[in-house]
Amino acid sequence: MQSGNGSTNGAVHDQSTLIMGAGPGGLCSAYVLSKAGVPATVVERAPFVGGLARTITRDTEYGEFRFDIGGHRWFTKIDELNDLFKEVIAEELLWVNRVSRIYFDGKYVDYPLKISNALKAVGPVKSAQAMADYARTRAVHKARPVEIVSMEDAYIDQFGPTLYELFFKRYSEKVWGLPCDQMSGDWVAQRSKGMSLVTAVKDAVVPSKGKVVSLIDEFMYPKYGFGRLSERMADGIQRMGNEVRLGAGVTKVHREGSKVTGVTVETERGPELVTAANYISSIPLTVLAKIMEPAAPAEVLAAADALTFRNIVTVNILLKRRQVTPDTWLYVHDKNILFGRFHEPKNWSAAMVPGDDFTSLVVEYFCSPGDAIWNMTEEEFVKQTVDHLVNDLTFIDRSEVIDGFIIRAPRAYPSYVIGYEEPLKKIKDFIDTFENLQIIGRYGTFRYNNTDHSIETGLLAAKNILGEHHDLDQVNAEKEYHEIKRVESPVAAGR
Ligand SMILES: Cc1cc2nc3c(=O)[nH]c(=O)nc-3n(C[C@H](O)[C@H](O)[C@H](O)COP(=O)(O)OP(=O)(O)OC[C@H]3O[C@@H](n4cnc5c(N)ncnc54)[C@H](O)[C@@H]3O)c2cc1C
Repeated sequence: MQSGNGSTNGAVHDQSTLIMGAGPGGLCSAYVLSKAGVPATVVERAPFVGGLARTITRDTEYGEFRFDIGGHRWFTKIDELNDLFKEVIAEELLWVNRVSRIYFDGKYVDYPLKISNALKAVGPVKSAQAMADYARTRAVHKARPVEIVSMEDAYIDQFGPTLYELFFKRYSEKVWGLPCDQMSGDWVAQRSKGMSLVTAVKDAVVPSKGKVVSLIDEFMYPKYGFGRLSERMADGIQRMGNEVRLGAGVTKVHREGSKVTGVTVETERGPELVTAANYISSIPLTVLAKIMEPAAPAEVLAAADALTFRNIVTVNILLKRRQVTPDTWLYVHDKNILFGRFHEPKNWSAAMVPGDDFTSLVVEYFCSPGDAIWNMTEEEFVKQTVDHLVNDLTFIDRSEVIDGFIIRAPRAYPSYVIGYEEPLKKIKDFIDTFENLQIIGRYGTFRYNNTDHSIETGLLAAKNILGEHHDLDQVNAEKEYHEIKRVESPVAAGR
C-alpha cells in the first residue's frame, strides 16, 4: 500500500491506513481520510459493503423489493454527524415520520413508552398499582440507595415493578434470551439514561424552561434503503482514489512489540499480506483478539471466549397488499409469538417496494448460535412467520403473500451479561498496547452502538490519524436519553 505523509507539530509521519470491515464505521474512517488526501484501504470479508446496516434487493415478476436488516433509522444529536449523513445521502435524503408502537395483548401502546398512553392501555386498576409501586420503589431507594446490577434492577428503579413486568420484561427476555436478572443494568443505563416514570410525566406536563422538548418523531432515511449510506461512502472513497476491497477477510493480524505490522487477508487468489502505518478495526473484537500473530496472551484469548453476542434472523415477507400497519416499527411482546418486532419498509420509503399495490414486512427473530430458533430452516422461518401474521395477529391474509426469505446476521447484539466488563477490559487493555491500532464500531468495540455511534468512532479514529486527539471510549457515553433531543427550534434540530 502506498504511503502518505502528514505533518503534525512539525513532525512528519506516515498516515497510510488499513481499515478492517466495510460497515458504516469502517467506511466512515476511509471516507474522512480520503477527503484529507490520505491513502486508505478497506478490506471486507463479504462480497458487499454495509455490514449490519446494508440493504438487500429481491427481484420479482412485479419489480424490485428492498430490505434493511431490520429497519435502520438515522438519529443523532451531533450536528457534524448529521451534516456528514446529508452530504453522503444528498439527493436521496428523505424525512420519515416515526410511528412506533408496542402490540400488547391485543392493544397498541406508543413506543418509546408515553406514560399517559401506557397507563390508559393497562386500565385504571393496573395504572394505580403502577403509580403506587413506583412511588414505593422511589421512596425505598431514596432512603436506602440500592446498587443497580442487573437489567431488572435498572428497569424497576426507572419505572417501578408493574411497568417493568408489563412493558420491559417480556420483550427484553426475547431480545437477550436470558432472564433480566442475569443481564447487566448497563444496557438500560446506556439506552434510557435520564428516562424514568418521573421524567416522562414531568416532560409531558411541564416542558423544560425556554426550550422545546421533543421525543424524536421524525428521522432521516435514504430513499433506497439505509444501505445506501455505506454504498455511497464506498463510491466516494473509490472516486477519491482509495480502495474498498470486497471478498478480503482478515485472517491474521501481525504484531511486533507495540505495533501492528500487517494483516493477512484471504482472497480468491489465496492469502495476501497487506501493510500500512495505521490500522483501524471494526471486525468483532473477540475475533480480533483471536487472530493476533503471534497469539495474544492466554488470558486475553480466554476473555474473548467469555464474551457472547445475540444473533438475529430477519424474515422478509413480500406482499400484494397496500399496507399492513401505519407503523415504522411494531414491537410484539406476546410470548407465544416467537419474533420480537417488525417494520414495513414502504412506511419508510415508497421506493422500497415496486409500486403502490405492494408492501413487505421485515420480521426480526432474536437467537443464539445453535439454539432452536437459529437452527430453523428458511422454510420453517417463513412458515412460522406467515402463520403468526395470519392466525395469531390477523394482520395479513395468506393469499397476499408473494414470497418470503431470510437473512441470518450473526453477532448482531453484543450481550451485556452480568460480569462482561472484566473480560472486555482485559481485551481492550491488550489492544491499547498497540500504538497504531484503533477499534471502532459496534461489534468492533463490543458496545451497543447505533450507526451514528459507529460512524462517530470511525470519524474520530480517522481524525486521530490526521493528528487530533480523541478518546473513542467517550462515544455513546452521554447522560441524556438517546431518544430525546432538546432543541430551540426546528432549524436547530437539523432541518
Ligand atoms: C436489527 C437491527 C436494527 C438496527 N437498527 C438501527 C437503527 O435503527 N439505527 C441505527 O443507527 N443503528 C441500528 N442498528 C445498528 C447498526 O446496524 C450498527 O450500529 C452498524 O451497522 C455498526 O456498524 P459497524 O461498521 O460497526 O459494523 P458492521 O455494520 O457490523 O460492519 C462490520 C463489517 O466488518 C466485516 N467483517 C467481519 N469480520 C471481518 C473480517 N475478519 N475481515 C474483514 N471484514 C470483516 C463484516 O462483514 C461487516 O461488513 C441496528 C442493528 C440491528 C442488528
